[in-house]
Amino acid sequence: MSTILFPAPIFGPVHSRRLGISLGINLLPADRKICSFDCLYCECGFNQKTSNKIVMPTRSEVSAALEAKLQEMTAEGQLPDVITYAGNGEPTLHPEFAEIIDDTIALRNTYAPKAKVAVLTNASRFGDEKVRAALSLVDDCIAKLDSGLESTVLKLDRPNYKYDINKTIEQIAMMGDNLAVQTMFVRWQENGQTVDNMSDTDVLPWLEALRRINPPRVMIYTIDRDTPLHSMSKATHEELDALAARAREIVKNVSISY
Ligand code: SF4
Repeated sequence: MSTILFPAPIFGPVHSRRLGISLGINLLPADRKICSFDCLYCECGFNQKTSNKIVMPTRSEVSAALEAKLQEMTAEGQLPDVITYAGNGEPTLHPEFAEIIDDTIALRNTYAPKAKVAVLTNASRFGDEKVRAALSLVDDCIAKLDSGLESTVLKLDRPNYKYDINKTIEQIAMMGDNLAVQTMFVRWQENGQTVDNMSDTDVLPWLEALRRINPPRVMIYTIDRDTPLHSMSKATHEELDALAARAREIVKNVSISY
């Protein structure tokens, strides 16, 4: 299946299932994915081993490109509902992430004061106080937690650092009122390996993690675009409805993207 890479540093606007008219910010290179995870379902494909220098857009490049795009959207009378950090990998890996968040909020306030600033993150850098402080400033900090079971995260999300699910849950729980926990539900079976994070083996520890984190919001979804693996299958509407009902026993605000 074909996967996609996003332009950098600005892409869109795109109509997002979850977020409305979303203007994207990609802090990673335009020509490859750079992520601390390598999820089996990643729409950007898998991390590539290469000796090419990693060139991320600089703080001033991001600021100039965002300002130009917001000016263009103002002239067209179509402002974004949300400015979303997403793109070709994990945005908090950018060394100037905190400063770029400051610039983004200042530009949002000038050009599109009603727009939210959202960050999609895999939570891998929540141990860094500066990253947490930057994330506390945005409207929506949307943190991935695909299972409450470490073995499933290792198989499905394939973190490329020493992953500790308990530490991750503790760090996600340190985030504030702008937190949404986001979980991708999928099923995959290939060469004797299986992932099914909708089974009770996974769902019960996931519910326990939600109890520990007590987030204001939970967002559950399934694959919508191409993934690098053919053998990945979506959760059905009924499965997502049932999972949301169980999550709502713990967190009132649970949204589903089918
Ligand atoms: S965390 Fe996001 S960008 Fe990184 S591999 Fe997973 S889906 Fe792709």
